[in-house]
Amino acid sequence: MSVKIAEAPATQGVLGRMENNDHEEVLFAFDRITGLRAIIAVHDTTLGPALGGTRMWPYETEAEALNDVLRLSRGMTYKSALAGLDLGGGKAVIIGDARTQKTEAMFRRFGRFVDSLNGRYITAEDVGMSTADMVNIRKETRHVAGLPIEVGGSGDPSPVTAYGVFCGMRAAAKTAFGKDSLSGRKVAIQGGGNVGRHLAGYLVKDGAIVFITDIHEDKLAAIKAEHPAVNLVKPDAIYGLDVDIYSPCALGATVNDETLAKLKCSVIAGAANNQLADEKKHGVAVMEKGMLYAPDFLINAGGIINCAWERKGYDRNAAMKQTENIYATTLEIFKRSKAENIPTYLAANQAAERRVLSIKQAGLRS
Ligand code: NAD
Repeated sequence: MSVKIAEAPATQGVLGRMENNDHEEVLFAFDRITGLRAIIAVHDTTLGPALGGTRMWPYETEAEALNDVLRLSRGMTYKSALAGLDLGGGKAVIIGDARTQKTEAMFRRFGRFVDSLNGRYITAEDVGMSTADMVNIRKETRHVAGLPIEVGGSGDPSPVTAYGVFCGMRAAAKTAFGKDSLSGRKVAIQGGGNVGRHLAGYLVKDGAIVFITDIHEDKLAAIKAEHPAVNLVKPDAIYGLDVDIYSPCALGATVNDETLAKLKCSVIAGAANNQLADEKKHGVAVMEKGMLYAPDFLINAGGIINCAWERKGYDRNAAMKQTENIYATTLEIFKRSKAENIPTYLAANQAAERRVLSIKQAGLRS
């Protein structure tokens, strides 16, 4: 089967790149004293303030950091739109090593930059950031979510994210195998971090046969101690396993030319953001290989749903209940993808864009 999608025009430079995906604002933040080098991208605020985490990562080049923040912020617009939240999309990156370069002063300085956006951008945790870092940012701005429970926040969103991924995976199983139960299904989880660990728990409970890998042996040992039924595998072995479902829960871009040649699964459903190395190329390739891809921003929305509840008065049960809607939305996206013969990522993008556009066109922009 061959699938055709229109090319977006290629433009150069930061403004050109913003134009490609309609980014509203990009803030470059630098502070000599604290060593802060950050970029905040506000993609779209039609549905509400742009909420999205801050990622601290030792990017080798500024271009790499800019690419990441532009791509991730757009993903947040789509994620909140599909989850039915009244939030827009934004994201921040801090260029640096999260293990050695964090200081209170750096995060407070970063908080000042977040504050300068007057609530158009609300930050939270992403890779490399902790709830403790959010507390330091909070000293300079109230536009922060994902705070610890002790200071009135909702704590670590990962268990809720894992639950949403589990719900999305069940919808994928229903579509691919005819039954949403994961009992007896073989699932390969890449990344035994906060989300992967909780996801393994849901899967074991549902009777799935779980294979899990991580680059840190101690994380795997802890998961094995908690869930003795899981099978531990080496990081490089995860792609070649003969499984029903591959669940990327580490970093993005793990669905690429090289891994697609190895993957034997029928379903790809995980938590990592930007799993498709090249959204269009690999989204189409996955479809042509007959694999069902559950769009990452659709099924990993539990964390943002949790943050949204933190802002309106935290209610864990309500957050979990709303996260459960991911099952129905995922089924709907798969149906549309099939009916229109388009890749699932595109069906999800279009559904998100339709919601944003309808609010914009009705003049209801917040
Ligand atoms: P985490 O940092 O706790 O866990 C990631 C794990 O992946 C780590 O244990 C790390 O050692 C492991 N890892 C990294 N590279 C690997 C590789 N090549 N092979 C095997 N393991 C590898 O992060 P998390 O909070 O569990 O999030 C996982 C993913 O889900 C991230 O991409 C994150 O952006 C995304 N996500 C998380 C949330 C959330 O609520 N935590 C929400 C939405 C999306």
